[in-house]
Amino acid sequence: MFQNFIFDWSGTLVDDLGPVIEATNVVLGRYGLAPLDREAFRRRFRLPYREFYAEVLPAVALEELEGHFRRAFAAALTPVTVLPHAREKLEWCRALGMRAFVLTSMDAAAFEQQLEAFGWRHHFEATYSGVLDKREVIHQILATHQLDPHQTAFVGDMTHDVETARHGGIFSIAVLTGYNHAEVLAAVRPDLTVPDLRALRELLDERRGIPRPHPPTPR
Ligand SMILES: [Mg+2]
Repeated sequence: MFQNFIFDWSGTLVDDLGPVIEATNVVLGRYGLAPLDREAFRRRFRLPYREFYAEVLPAVALEELEGHFRRAFAAALTPVTVLPHAREKLEWCRALGMRAFVLTSMDAAAFEQQLEAFGWRHHFEATYSGVLDKREVIHQILATHQLDPHQTAFVGDMTHDVETARHGGIFSIAVLTGYNHAEVLAAVRPDLTVPDLRALRELLDERRGIPRPHPPTPR
């Protein structure tokens, strides 16, 4: 049974796909590229984002693109919202004494602003933001907080999250609420794939011998 959860942020706990696509399209548009719609974005975007930009805009420095992106993201009209079942999942962790962490590529200032706005700081023992390649810090996080790899899961919505979990020797849980299509995620073989965080909570409750409170609703 897991005692520790490391959560990705975007697409796992919060829905910022709208403003991210809006800002990405501003960046692409500045260099004369056509905008991506939601489906195209979910198939093409990947982390570390430097790889995505190296593919679509190989001649432009990443710092320049990041500057455009930050300004466009701050000006985006589509709001960032809490994903359904995220709040309940964090409260579940807290009620059961599970340790929770965040590991995200999101720009640190934007992340701190959202963490504050949603009033979620107390849910996490530590947060790591602005991490471009999560594989580079996963071992350090496990060591710093003395997390037993056998009791630790990384929950994320992208192939990079699954690859990071594998790199760290911890369990990978993929959620289908975010940036990657189910088929894109399936290609990297997560240890477990769930449609959303409610399904994860119910599955883990079942393993603890607690029956589901109600039958699963068809989606
Ligand atoms: Mg994500």
